[in-house]
Amino acid sequence: MCGIFGIYGHPRAAEISHLGLYSLQHRGQESAGIVTAGVGGSPRATKTMGLISEGLKVAEVSAMNGDVSIGHTRYSTAGSSTIENAQPMLARFRDGHIALAHNGNLINATELRRDLEDGGSIFTSTMDSEVLLHRIAKSSATSPEAKLADALQGVEGAYSIVVIIGDTLLAARDPRGWRPLVMGKLADCAVFASESCALDIVGATTVREIERGEIVAVDRSGTRSIHPLPASESRKCVFEYVYFARPDSSVFGESVDRARRELGRRLAKEQPATGADLVFSVPDSSNSAALGYAEESKLPFELALIRNHYVGRTFIQPTQAGRDAKVKVKYNAVKEVLRGKSVVMVDDSIVRGTTTKGLVAMVRSAGAREVHMRVSSSPITGPCYYGIDTPNREELIAANMSVDEIAGVLGVDSLGYLSLDGMLESVPSGPAGFCHACFSGDYPTPPPADPEKLRFGCGC
Ligand code: AMP
Repeated sequence: MCGIFGIYGHPRAAEISHLGLYSLQHRGQESAGIVTAGVGGSPRATKTMGLISEGLKVAEVSAMNGDVSIGHTRYSTAGSSTIENAQPMLARFRDGHIALAHNGNLINATELRRDLEDGGSIFTSTMDSEVLLHRIAKSSATSPEAKLADALQGVEGAYSIVVIIGDTLLAARDPRGWRPLVMGKLADCAVFASESCALDIVGATTVREIERGEIVAVDRSGTRSIHPLPASESRKCVFEYVYFARPDSSVFGESVDRARRELGRRLAKEQPATGADLVFSVPDSSNSAALGYAEESKLPFELALIRNHYVGRTFIQPTQAGRDAKVKVKYNAVKEVLRGKSVVMVDDSIVRGTTTKGLVAMVRSAGAREVHMRVSSSPITGPCYYGIDTPNREELIAANMSVDEIAGVLGVDSLGYLSLDGMLESVPSGPAGFCHACFSGDYPTPPPADPEKLRFGCGC
């Protein structure tokens, strides 16, 4: 998963991108970058591995002139965590320069890349997103939006992108609209971001979502919108509401907090925990769902797990060994809350089971009498080919075990997941129009010919 940001027509565009990226750090903590171009500057990029606060220095960003800027936060799959793969990408071509930041996964990137390589193209990264740069450069169309439209024909999969071509800023979403992308306004400047919380931090107001299959172009003459791609059915990622997006954001035009609380309330109806004393969340991503569960079941909501905020999301460790060690570094249990109690532990999802198993052991050793685990999504039984880093079925605990078996592995007294219908009926504008492939096996596209090859991709 990744976060993307763009701003047009601001004298301090790089600084605004920098600020916006702080609110998109949760979408990727492996690398980050900013590109500037436009009036008052020549195209420049700065990139770093790790967190924005550690790697993107204010003085360096402030020295990046130009009134157009895009930014990116990234996490990827194993093996591709290198600075070459940090985004935004910046390249020169016959008509000037192109910069691009991508959230999603292109499922036919292997084929597209092979075609380009057969034609003599050379690549500087292992990212799927780089094929888009080449395709833009190859287009003989004259306007930036027509070049981008050309480039996107025949590209399959998930992409929300912000692009600079010359002095024009473009924003686009794939025709199924897997990943969010919102447009805002800061004074007279157009702003684009994966989530509305990144508009809030820079003081921008929300204008609207970028539509599925839409390209928006912003330049000196104003804002233009085209819909050049063949229409497809909506397939918004339901996991954005379950886990990824921040609860203070609106994604796909709807409040994440509202969705998550409703997921929790529905979970309480479907999977009550009779006789329990209290409810707690696995912070932070399940806070809102746990509040919904507590409200609905009329149980007190307690803070029984404390999260160390100086440690990133556990999954964002590329190796299993790294993930294991991080559980204890990241969480600790509050013994005074748990001792002698029958507790409901609410989490938004179980993927590999690694974190959850460690947490259950921690909660028990803090003195909990009974641990009833409730999950505000359905069992994840399949890989995601559209931007979430779970490509390997063998790693998914629910792909390989029944709910009872999982309960045994985790060491809980009971385990209850939200049903697929319950999940889809709880999210705003559901139940239709969502991608739930990782839960249901209902993939909107044929799976990629070689899913392992997808791992070379951006995975963001
Ligand atoms: P595990 O017990 O190892 O399956 O980890 C479950 C935890 O990972 C839950 O607390 C989720 O909030 C979180 N999680 C779920 N999906 C992802 C993901 N794609 N990337 C990072 N963390 C995730």
